[in-house]
Amino acid sequence: MPLYEYSCRLCDEGFEKLQPMSAAKTAECPACGQPAGRVLSMIAAPVRVGGGEEPSASSAPSAGACCGGACGCG
Ligand SMILES: [Zn+2]
Repeated sequence: MPLYEYSCRLCDEGFEKLQPMSAAKTAECPACGQPAGRVLSMIAAPVRVGGGEEPSASSAPSAGACCGGACGCG
């Protein structure tokens, strides 16, 4: 049976209560007796760490195979 968190809007009382999933989305406030609404638990969203860290592939200018004197094009 899941534990739900409730928050009373009238007296701002917060409490938790074990309720079956098929139960109503309200629970009686222990402080004022009014139906309190269920609070959805905040689930921490995954946070992206860092930025685009690209591997810096320094493309060295390829040494010209041609015009090196071996091919005789120049
Ligand atoms: Zn209340």
